Amino acid sequence: MSTRLRAIQSDITKLHVEAIVNAANSSLLGGGGVDGAIHRAAGPDLVHECRLLGGCKTGDAKVTKGYRLSAQYIIHTVGPVWRGGDSGEPALLSSCYRRCIELAEERAIASIAFPSISTGIYGYPIELAAEVAVQSVRDSLARDSSIQDVIFCCFSAQDLLHYERILNRPSA
Ligand code: ADP
Repeated sequence: MSTRLRAIQSDITKLHVEAIVNAANSSLLGGGGVDGAIHRAAGPDLVHECRLLGGCKTGDAKVTKGYRLSAQYIIHTVGPVWRGGDSGEPALLSSCYRRCIELAEERAIASIAFPSISTGIYGYPIELAAEVAVQSVRDSLARDSSIQDVIFCCFSAQDLLHYERILNRPSA
């Protein structure tokens, strides 16, 4: 069965999916933006589990339970800070999406929602980041992937337009 990719506008903490992705920082101990929202919604047990993980490198990802969230799992990934685009940002951002898909498939997860990683505090331009997000997810899905639904969860209507434009374009 083929995987469905779609974009919606929502608060990611409210979604009824098996896994949500967190755009974390390398400490994994919480921060602003979506990271703060996820920690607040999941409750204090999340940071206790995160403390045991020893941080996370940029481009990599680690899994925790979802605690008070509807989602069973949180996949924490660390996106690159935008430094103009010539410091390996596209490859690192792509690696975030790839690692999240790999970890989800290892756990036989069927549905996963991504925020727009790196496009908030980390400053990655949304129009470029959305291209990387969609392309990387398409390229990373295994032929027999457990994942049936991928949701790109946009916080703003503007971001949603970028994702919809890309997703509605015939893929090469
Ligand atoms: P980063 O540090 O990776 O840039 P941010 O959390 O600052 O992470 O921003 C990443 C994206 O998450 C931005 O598009 C931001 O608007 C969005 N965002 C912030 N809060 C939420 C939320 N509750 N649900 C979904 N997306 C969110």
